[in-house]
Amino acid sequence: MNAPTPTSHDANALTVTQAQALIAQTVTCVTTTETLPLKQLLQRVLAADVISPINVPAHDNSAMDGYALHHDDLDAKQLHVVGIALAGKPYTGSVQRGECVRIMTGAVVPAGCDTVVPQELTQQINQTISFEVNVVKSGANRRMAGEDLALGKPALKKGKVLTPADLGLLASLGIAEASVQRKLRVAYFSTGDELRSLGEPLAEGCIYDSNRYTLHGMLTRLGCEPIDMGVVNDNPAALEAALKTACEQADAIITSGGVSAGDADYMKQLLAQLGDVHFWKIDMRPGRPVAFGKINSNDRSAVLFGLPGNPVAVMVTFYFFAREALFNMMGASSRPLPVMRALSAQLIRKKPGRTEYQRGIVSRDNAGQASVCVTGSQGSGMLSSMSEANCIIMLEHAQGDVQTGDTVDVILFDGLM
Ligand code: AMP
Ligand code: MG
Repeated sequence: MNAPTPTSHDANALTVTQAQALIAQTVTCVTTTETLPLKQLLQRVLAADVISPINVPAHDNSAMDGYALHHDDLDAKQLHVVGIALAGKPYTGSVQRGECVRIMTGAVVPAGCDTVVPQELTQQINQTISFEVNVVKSGANRRMAGEDLALGKPALKKGKVLTPADLGLLASLGIAEASVQRKLRVAYFSTGDELRSLGEPLAEGCIYDSNRYTLHGMLTRLGCEPIDMGVVNDNPAALEAALKTACEQADAIITSGGVSAGDADYMKQLLAQLGDVHFWKIDMRPGRPVAFGKINSNDRSAVLFGLPGNPVAVMVTFYFFAREALFNMMGASSRPLPVMRALSAQLIRKKPGRTEYQRGIVSRDNAGQASVCVTGSQGSGMLSSMSEANCIIMLEHAQGDVQTGDTVDVILFDGLM
């Protein structure tokens, strides 16, 4: 890993963008793939292009219920109905000029017809239909063979993270399984003598470990295989053992706590023995201290993210550093964050010279304008601010105070798919 570009006298001080770039340079994609049936493919990363083995739709077919005819016959105002075409039951006869076929949505357009006139624009009396002259354009209401997916063309590209639409798309091609990257294994543990696991009594001055649960949730949402390694005390031997086990079992390791000034020396020494890990002071809030690098144990290596201990800082540093790196390791094609612009409903204090991530609630006013306010108390230990929020307000490095009515970038927590 290259030495970070110094932003001040301290070589470990980095902007968010610099830290992101260093991380991107370091991680590489896992290479093992597996073939899975369609229903197990949701959120998995496609390992190779899927080439369409057929045209979808396979035949020109009708987009409406109505009458299939030859467009030149629209001058005739009246046509003889010679048969019916249903979805899955084509009309097999030939259609002569002056004739038409009653047709339903999805039915194959019969040979000799090029246009469908919707039923509501016609009148049928016995075996004859009548309509206004030139009621529709040539080729109207006809879906062309291959217009959705063309035979021989890539229907889905390698690196695609598969969505519900993609599962349906694969099924529409008659494809029952696909090759995907194996799941990324991510081991995580919490450090701190004050931490207690669920079910343990809380001694005075102790707190429940929440970071392992947010990490479990975030890793699962990303499509990783989370490996929970519990709480590890602030003790070099215990930390070393945990780091080695994690390294041998996982592609990436995420720890929380123990990287801030007070504890860092400890972890620093240990990680220097195990590999190449940098302790960064990132110009951001929350989440200033972050350790990042690679460690080795018994011929296995793993990428390590040493996140700060504060629960909100864990989430913010996960989303703005680990997320992209883990997607790269999974072989997923770039997945930009869903950023939108909103008007700030209030004054937000902000110091230039650091990127700030405030928890916000974005909503739309009656005129459809998006506006955002911050959630209650923004302390980096307050998970309630994260739980109430539906977005993060991202205030970039150089930005100063935000005035009411200023436009800000917000990143939505939930997308549709
Ligand atoms: P540290 O970075 O270890 O100094 O931790 C910073 C703050 O986060 C301290 O108040 C810790 O008690 C708290 N903290 C650290 N780890 C956790 C955790 N797993 N769950 C909840 N709070 C934590
Ligand atoms: Mg600690």
